[in-house]
Order: sequence, then structure tokens, then C-alpha cells
Amino acid sequence: MRAFEVVTARDPAHALALLADFGPSAQVLAGGTDLLVDLKLAPEVPRVIVDISRVEELKRIALADQGLSIGALATHSQIIRSPLVRDLAPALIAAARTIGAVQTRNLATLGGNLVSAVPSLDSGPVLFALEALVTMIGPGGRRQLPIADFFVAPRKTVLKAGELLAEIVVPRASLRKPTDFQKFGLRKGQALALVSVGASTWIDRGRNAFVAPRIALGAVAPTIVRALDAEAYLEGRAATPEAMAEAGRIAASEARPITDFRASERYRRDLVGVLTRRALTNACAQAHGALREAPR
Ligand SMILES: Cc1cc2nc3c(=O)[nH]c(=O)nc-3n(C[C@H](O)[C@H](O)[C@H](O)COP(=O)(O)OP(=O)(O)OC[C@H]3O[C@@H](n4cnc5c(N)ncnc54)[C@H](O)[C@@H]3O)c2cc1C
Repeated sequence: MRAFEVVTARDPAHALALLADFGPSAQVLAGGTDLLVDLKLAPEVPRVIVDISRVEELKRIALADQGLSIGALATHSQIIRSPLVRDLAPALIAAARTIGAVQTRNLATLGGNLVSAVPSLDSGPVLFALEALVTMIGPGGRRQLPIADFFVAPRKTVLKAGELLAEIVVPRASLRKPTDFQKFGLRKGQALALVSVGASTWIDRGRNAFVAPRIALGAVAPTIVRALDAEAYLEGRAATPEAMAEAGRIAASEARPITDFRASERYRRDLVGVLTRRALTNACAQAHGALREAPR
């Protein structure tokens, strides 16, 4: 690998100033667990790496006016240990636990996971199901978008040159919303998702009916996608096993999986149906305060 210079940012303003100084060829380093792998394989390496991993302001997890604010530099281990996340959005912990091994999770950040923008990124489905917001900072100031608008294509987001992902917000309306994450890989640990599903729903207890069900699919389209037809099917409908199985079938028909060396398109589509049903079952069980469906 060709040598490159590393400059370390002290705070968000310093990071933005360094990015402005060194121009679009400078690259940002957070935990480095994706970036260093990419650099080893890349034909060209950037001249300068801007290391933001010591910017404390971007590591905070706090309850803010908008909701649960998670700094883009919060590591997956930090999320797993956070009492606030456990109380307000515990499905994020379930997703974080499936990412790599503990050594990876100690370095790897939530922001890096999102900016890497691979279709199988594990923190995505739960954040989509909770309708999270992402906050970016840059030369033009601060802007915020729904997470669904952050992704453009595999490995491509709306982040502009010189911008940083600063924060991920789970809005107040989604706090403590019953939510489940399901991931299927070729082995239990350290496996990328063949398919992953995040599902959230409120339940109208009087009618045992779905209210605001949200289903997000990972690794079966160029970006994480919501299964909008399945959500529309469930809205207001009685939360029965049959309805959840049908929602799984609809979600499977909405997915756009590929065939590759790890699994066929057909196998992935079947998995979407099964994992969607399981995620909905578990989210409903949470809503009723019952036990979760045991993984099979
Ligand atoms: C052994 C191993 C196992 C893994 N297993 C999984 C897994 O099971 N599931 C999974 O989803 N991922 C997995 N990954 C991928 C990786 O660990 C995650 O995507 C991780 O969260 C990336 O975070 P990072 O801080 O290391 O990002 P980095 O490598 O530092 O950065 C990744 C990209 O994002 C950019 N970037 C980072 N932070 C910001 C920011 N705040 N603003 C703007 N740009 C930014 C960087 O420039 C780079 O392009 C694994 C990786 C390894 C090495």
C-alpha cells in the first residue's frame, strides 16, 4: 500500500476545516474497520486521511429534544452498553450484537456502518423500522434527513465532499416502540447477512390490531428498503399469525435479491418471508409484554 498522511481532528469544526483544506481526495477515518480493508484493496490511496476517531462530541449518546441522539462515532460496543439505548431502542442493541466480533465492535462506529452503505449493513433495518433521522454537518451548515433518504446505491450516500455524518436520531415518536431484528447468515458469528429484517409496530390492545407497522429489509436490494406493501396490508389489521405470515409473503415479493456465491435469489426471497414473520411475531410479543418467538 502507498504511504499516506494521517491528520487527527480535535473537534467537529477542526474536522470540517481539515476536510476543506485537503479537498475531496481526503478520506475520513472513524473506526477504520471498513476503510482499512478498502485501502488495502484500492488501486489508489488518498494522500490524506482525516482521523475523526478522537472527536468526543460525536461519540455521545443522549436523550435530546428530538429523541434519542446517538453520535456517529458511537461504537457498536458503546451502543450495546448504553442504558439509554437499552431503555429506549433496545432493538439497536440486538442488531449491534450481530456485528463482527467484540474486537470489531470495540472500534467500529454506527456512523461508519451507515456511510459504508453496503446493502447488508446491520444497523440499517432497525433504524429504518424506527424511522430514524440522520444529521450531517458540512461547509454549508447542518442538515437532517430521514434515514431512508440517506442511501443512494450500494456504497453511495447523499453525503457531499467535505461533509460528516454527525448524529443519528431515533425520534420521540419511535422511542420504546416494540421492534425486533432478525439476521440470517451462513454461520452464527462474524457473518454478513444473507437477509436481515427490522420490524416495529404499535398494537391497539383493544382490537389487537397493528398500528404503524414498519418493515425494513437488508441485503435484498441495492440499499436497505421498506416493505411498503406489507406495511399497508398490516395497518389496522388484527395481529394474527396468519396476517404476519401473509405480510411475510408480501415482503418477499417486494424484495429484489440477487443470486451470488452465498445464496440464490429464491433462497433469499424465502428467507425474507420467514424473517419478516418472525420479526413481526417478536415485535407483537413485546407489545403484549410476552416472551419472544424462539429462533429456530
Ligand atoms: C471482521 C469484520 C467483521 C464485520 N462484520 C460486520 C457485520 O457483521 N455487519 C456489518 O454491518 N458490518 C460488519 N463489518 C463492517 C464494519 O465493521 C462496519 O461497517 C463498521 O460499523 C464501520 O465503522 P468504522 O467506524 O470502522 O468505519 P470506517 O472504516 O472508519 O469508515 C467507513 C467509511 O465511512 C466513512 N466514514 C466513517 N465515519 C464517517 C462520518 N462520521 N462521516 C463521514 N464519513 C464517515 C469513511 O470515510 C469510510 O468511507 C465488519 C468488518 C470487519 C473488519
